[in-house]
Amino acid sequence: MNYSRFGAGLLGWAEMSWEEQARCRQYDPEMFFAPRARAERKAKTICVKCPVKVDCLVFALQAKVEFGIWGGTNGKERRAMIRSSPVGTDWREEIQSIGVTA
Ligand code: SF4
Repeated sequence: MNYSRFGAGLLGWAEMSWEEQARCRQYDPEMFFAPRARAERKAKTICVKCPVKVDCLVFALQAKVEFGIWGGTNGKERRAMIRSSPVGTDWREEIQSIGVTA
């Protein structure tokens, strides 16, 4: 099955160019949206080696996605990042400045 956790079928958003390389495409998308700590930990370990982690996190921060694991972060962590950054922050630059790569 060619399923995407990002695509129109789930969220109504247009497919993004980096989505094809998303490591999570090989896993059950429920794992990335389950509120349980164990599933969250497992999802985050998948993100660690994802080649599009930065693109994914930049998207989630720009779109203010509240739920799910994106770029190795949960909604609470992203809200904290948004709160502690000035309006207009260049998220790609910010993320790379703290050492997140891929
Ligand atoms: S960083 Fe995680 S959630 Fe984002 S595309 Fe990669 S595996 Fe999926």
